Amino acid sequence: MKIALVTGANRGIGLEVARQLAAAGVTVIKTGRDPGHVDVVLDVTNADSIAACKRTVLAEFGRVDILVNNAAVLIGEDRDLLATPIDEFRMTFETNVFGAIAVAQAFVPGMVERRTGSVVNVSSAAGQLSSMGTYAPAYSISKASLNAFTVQLAAATRGMGVLVNSVNPGWVRTRMGGPGAPTSVEQGADTIVWLALQPANGPTGQFFSNRHPISW
Ligand code: NDP
Repeated sequence: MKIALVTGANRGIGLEVARQLAAAGVTVIKTGRDPGHVDVVLDVTNADSIAACKRTVLAEFGRVDILVNNAAVLIGEDRDLLATPIDEFRMTFETNVFGAIAVAQAFVPGMVERRTGSVVNVSSAAGQLSSMGTYAPAYSISKASLNAFTVQLAAATRGMGVLVNSVNPGWVRTRMGGPGAPTSVEQGADTIVWLALQPANGPTGQFFSNRHPISW
């Protein structure tokens, strides 16, 4: 029985990823900031919260086989790059980049020890360098950085049984995506869950959309 930890699983794509993983027979640990809607509280920007979450998870579940770094913020969507306050970059990076790295630092060493695991970083088309324009500068640059983290972590764990990939879920109807987005949460979660459940010889160090590799 695999054990998955999903960040930001109280709503949106994270909640749906948790639902689909559970439906596939995985034991899912829903984490997030809202204690009423998760199994274990986790604010990915807070080192004490990550340490407390790790203690609780290891005590109650013993290990994490699948980590889905889903939690993110979209701040200053309509800003111009040169007018974006540096604090908006900092706030964005705290969650979208440093949060994902810190949570991985808490749980990936255990995967490496056991020679098995999967990390799925929920990225965005906004972070795709090959097509990047002027949309949401802080968010887009943070997602490109998250993708760079995917490449680094995949390289650092290559041959150790750990798969690390990024996913663009598409434009999805959530609080972040808004009601006019064309993609349902079910479809948005699909490639994330598909990657999380890949066998040991599955892909690593790649960026996916609709179950297909895409360019960085
Ligand atoms: P939502 O805004 O609906 O959900 C974001 C989630 O992240 C919430 O659960 C939120 O928790 C959580 N979160 C934010 N900050 C923190 C934090 N510091 N610690 C823990 N959890 C936190 O967005 P989506 O579900 O749409 O987004 C999920 C992922 O998909 C994100 O990575 C997003 O960038 C990505 N994505 C979404 C797209 C879309 O169209 N929706 C398009 C491309 C990518 P809380 O309720 O506490 O705020």
